[in-house]
Amino acid sequence: MQRFQYYIDGQFLDGEARFPSVDPASGKEWADLPEAREGDVDRAVNAAEQALYDGAWSKMTATQRGKLIYRLADMVAANAQKLAELETRDTGKIIRETSAQIAYVADYYRYYAGIADKIEGSYLPIDKPDMDVWLRREPIGVVAMVVPWNSQLFLSAVKIGPALAAGCTMVVKASEDGPAPLLEFARLIHEAGFPAGVVNIITGFGASCGAALSRHPKVAHVAFTGGPETARHIVRNSAENLASTSLELGGKSPFIVFADADLGSAANAQVAGIFAATGQSCVAGSRLIVERRVKEEFLTLLKGKAEAIVIGAPLDMATEVGPLATRRQQEHIAALVDKSVQSGARLVTGGHRPGGEGYYFPPTILDCDGVNSPSLVNEFFGPVLSVVSFETEAEALALANDTHYGLASGVFTQNLTRAHRLMKGIRAGIVWVNTYRAVSPIAPFGGFGLSGHGREGGMAAALDYTRTKTIWLRTSDDPIPDPFVMR
Ligand code: NAD
Repeated sequence: MQRFQYYIDGQFLDGEARFPSVDPASGKEWADLPEAREGDVDRAVNAAEQALYDGAWSKMTATQRGKLIYRLADMVAANAQKLAELETRDTGKIIRETSAQIAYVADYYRYYAGIADKIEGSYLPIDKPDMDVWLRREPIGVVAMVVPWNSQLFLSAVKIGPALAAGCTMVVKASEDGPAPLLEFARLIHEAGFPAGVVNIITGFGASCGAALSRHPKVAHVAFTGGPETARHIVRNSAENLASTSLELGGKSPFIVFADADLGSAANAQVAGIFAATGQSCVAGSRLIVERRVKEEFLTLLKGKAEAIVIGAPLDMATEVGPLATRRQQEHIAALVDKSVQSGARLVTGGHRPGGEGYYFPPTILDCDGVNSPSLVNEFFGPVLSVVSFETEAEALALANDTHYGLASGVFTQNLTRAHRLMKGIRAGIVWVNTYRAVSPIAPFGGFGLSGHGREGGMAAALDYTRTKTIWLRTSDDPIPDPFVMR
C-alpha cells in the first residue's frame, strides 16, 4: 500500500484517521490515505487565515506572487507524467487523458501567474469637489475549495490559480475518491516555496470534512465543483457564515446535429463528447438531438465508432475507455440504463456490465425517440448517450432547452445564420459550434440553472477572488463645516 499525507501549514501530516483508496481497474485497495475531520479542518483554516493577514505572503508584491505561481507551473509541467500516473491509478481515468490534461494544467497556472500583477483597482470621477476616491481590489479572504473525484488536478487548478493570483489563501479538500494526485501536488506547492499556510490540501469525507470546511466561520468564499445535491448542502452550510459561493455542477448537455452538418466530424466530436473520460465529464454531450432524416445514418456511424473503442487497463496507452471511478458510480449507471430500457428506450449498443474485476461499463447508446426516458433528464456521469430526433429548428431548440441544467451545448451545422440563432437561443453557459469540449485558461467556463453559477477560467475568475474596498480621501485643508449636512 502506498501511503499519503496531507498538507497543513507547510507540514505533511498523517491526519486524525486513515482510510483506504481502491484501484478502480482491479477493485482492490492500493493506497492508505489521511482522513481530515473537524479538528484538522480547523487547523487548516486557521493556518490559511494567519498566512493571509500576518505572514510573508501578505507582504509580497503581486509580481512576487506571480513569480511563485510561474515556478509552480514549471514544476507541474516537469512532474506531469508522475501526477498523471497517480491520477490514473487512483481514479481509473485513462493515461492518455491524464497525461495530456495535466500537461495543460501547467498552462492554467502560467496564465494566472501572468494575471497576478494585472488585477487593478480604479480611480472614480467622484461628484464632489476636494475628494479623491479609489477602489482597491483585495483578496476575498480564506477560500475553501471542494472538488469531486474526476480530474482533481485540473478542477483544483482552475480554483487555486486565480485565487493565488488574487492573493488569497486557501484550504483545498480533495475528494475521498481518488485524492492521491492532489496530495502529491502538495509537494510541488511546498517545493515551489509558497509560505506555510497559503495552500493547505486535505482530504476526507463530504459529510464530515466537507461540511466542517464549508461552514467554518473564517471561510469567506466556497468554490465548489460537484453535484447539485451537494451544492445545496454547501450553500446551506456557507449561509451560516454568509460566505459567497461559486458552484460548478453537473449537466445534461445537448448535442444538436443538423442534416447539413459534416456527419463524420460530428460523429467524432460526439464520441469524444460522451465517451471520453468514460463519460465522467460535467460537459458530456449526453443528449444527442439529431435531425430525423439523418438519424439512422448518424446512429450507424456512432454505433460503429462506439463498438470499435478499445476498452482496457487505464495505464495502457492503447486504452480509449477505462473503468468508472467507483463501484457506486457503476451501480448508478447500470440502474439508470435498466430504468430507461424499462421505460421504452431501445439499446443501440452496450448497456450491460461486463464480468471480471474493475468498475467497467461499455459505451452505450439509448434511442429514446418518442419515449419519456429518465436517461434524458438525469445525469449519468458515465458513457451513456441518449438520442432523440427533430424535424424543425424550433423543435431542436425546444428539446435542447428542455432541462434544468445549462452547462454546455454543441451545434453541428453548415448554416451560418442558423448557427447564430442557436448560439443566442440555447440556455447554457457554453455553446460549441462545429466542435465540442474545447477549453482554455483564457475562456470562462461555467453554467446556468442547476449547472451552477460563477465562472472559472479567464480574468473574470481572478476578479471573483477579490473584494473591493472604497477609499475616500478629502483633499481640502479647510475645516470641516456643518456636521449635520452630508457632503
Ligand atoms: P459530489 O457532489 O458527490 O462530491 C463533490 C465533493 O463534495 C467531494 O469532495 C465530496 O466529499 C464533497 N461533499 C460531499 N458532501 C458534502 C457536504 N455535505 N458538504 C461539503 N462537501 C461535501 O460529486 P461527485 O460525485 O464527486 O462528482 C460528480 C459530480 O461533479 C457530477 O454531478 C459532475 O457533473 C460534477 N462536476 C462538475 C464539473 C463542472 O466544472 N461543472 C466538473 C466535474 C464534475
